Amino acid sequence: MSQLVPHWIDGARAEGVSGRRGEVFDPATGQVAREVVLADQSDVDTVVASAVKAAAQWGESSLAARSRVLFGFRELVHRHRDELAALITAEHGKVLSDAAGEVQRGLEVVEFACGIPQLLKGDHSEQVSRGVDAYSARYPLGVVAGITPFNFPVMVPMWMFPMAVACGNAFVLKPSERDPSAAVRLAELFTEAGLPDGVLNVLQGDATAVNALLDHPDVAAVSFVGSTPIARHVYARGTASGKRVQALGGAKNHMVVLPDADLDVAADAAINAGFGSAGERCMAISVVVAVGDVGDRLVPAIAGRMAGLVTGPGTDPKSQMGPLVTGVHRDRVQSYVDAGVEQGAELVVDGRGFAPAGHEDGFWLAPTLFDRVDAEMSIYTDEIFGPVLSVVRVPTFEAAVELVNANQYGNGTAVFTADGLAAREYQRRVQVGMVGINVPIPVPMAYYSFGGWKDSLFGDTHVHGADGVKFYTRLKAVTARWPRESGIDLGFPTHG
Ligand code: NAD
Repeated sequence: MSQLVPHWIDGARAEGVSGRRGEVFDPATGQVAREVVLADQSDVDTVVASAVKAAAQWGESSLAARSRVLFGFRELVHRHRDELAALITAEHGKVLSDAAGEVQRGLEVVEFACGIPQLLKGDHSEQVSRGVDAYSARYPLGVVAGITPFNFPVMVPMWMFPMAVACGNAFVLKPSERDPSAAVRLAELFTEAGLPDGVLNVLQGDATAVNALLDHPDVAAVSFVGSTPIARHVYARGTASGKRVQALGGAKNHMVVLPDADLDVAADAAINAGFGSAGERCMAISVVVAVGDVGDRLVPAIAGRMAGLVTGPGTDPKSQMGPLVTGVHRDRVQSYVDAGVEQGAELVVDGRGFAPAGHEDGFWLAPTLFDRVDAEMSIYTDEIFGPVLSVVRVPTFEAAVELVNANQYGNGTAVFTADGLAAREYQRRVQVGMVGINVPIPVPMAYYSFGGWKDSLFGDTHVHGADGVKFYTRLKAVTARWPRESGIDLGFPTHG
């Protein structure tokens, strides 16, 4: 009998009433390791009702009380970081060191949110008119929901709920059903830190739960991170029911390498950003754009490094890359490799057919490299989300910018060069939300905001940082006076 991953509702584990269950795999063995409960409409109604009650109280809590609870949560996550990393590896498959890095990046958002008294300060203008002052204040929205992808089961939820809760909202987190355990543990730790019951809830589920949240009249806002087709759906359905929605979608991140770049630095970066977390990162590099003759030197440098990469179970300290998250996903990624060969790309390193000894049933695909990919091939046009790196050769810097800007996605990009002016020109002209200069995975720090352009984001706010505060609050502008005398005047008020 496998272990059951529950919801977390009103400060306690709960199985809900739906009776629906999903399978959670250990990707390194291919075995079903756990089952997860999957919510139906009545579970969604229960969790939202609990959150509505909690939001009324929590929204009135002092800023000092909120930041104290956040500091406590910060300490607990820090203390339990190895346990959280192990939970990630068990269900996602990524190697433990990578999972620990994910916990750390999530923790940085909690640390930012600890400063909520500073972040929620409004503006104040005295004497805007004689005896009149004006000021602004930010108010929580009430109940907000977060829907998150499988690839960062700790970090992406932590982009959202620490900010939302710090702003005085109650939060309903709907994690990915593929790796649902870490979310419950995070909610448990937040409760242990003193967060009142019902302020952070975890609702396990699939599309049924997502759509019920999107339609629910008591959910004021939705943050979503996942693939572009679902992001588009979430944005359309959520805004149609009057909600505030930010929906971050998929990506195809290009790394442009100019002929003057340091080849060792660029080749290392392509390996790390292409194959880290088995390419299952929204900021993974999936296309290397080799400018001029750099491809002749860069492709052998990347291929040479790939020969030494160790793919294996995430729990083995020798492994540098783990398995893919499910068998279905592995088969989909592998079908892109087949298509790349059929469509005429040059397969330099073939990762198909690999399995580490003793783990033959895991969801494996070793790092794979294609050269001479063109913009019509499906390995270029589609987000593959696996350890498959494509090299596109272009003649000039201009052609590189044109290629990147013609792509439907605009999440992240990087340029590798020794020429500061070329880097500056690229940064200014590229139609992408997050840009790295000799940095392959330019994930913004917690005190900036994370988000892409074009089909990588629907909505107008990015996540965490200043945009996080903006998204999870409503602004009120107050004009005040304390008159000793008044008179009748039907004209429109002006300053005097
Ligand atoms: P996904 O879109 O399949 O799932 C994301 C969430 O949506 C999950 O919670 C899932 O249960 C839910 N969902 C799935 N199908 C649904 C449907 N038909 N209706 C309503 N809800 C549905 O994404 P995934 O496979 O879990 O994650 C990988 C994707 O996420 C990649 O495309 C990746 O680029 C993207 N991603 C983007 C960012 C970013 O910041 N832009 C960050 C991480 C991941």
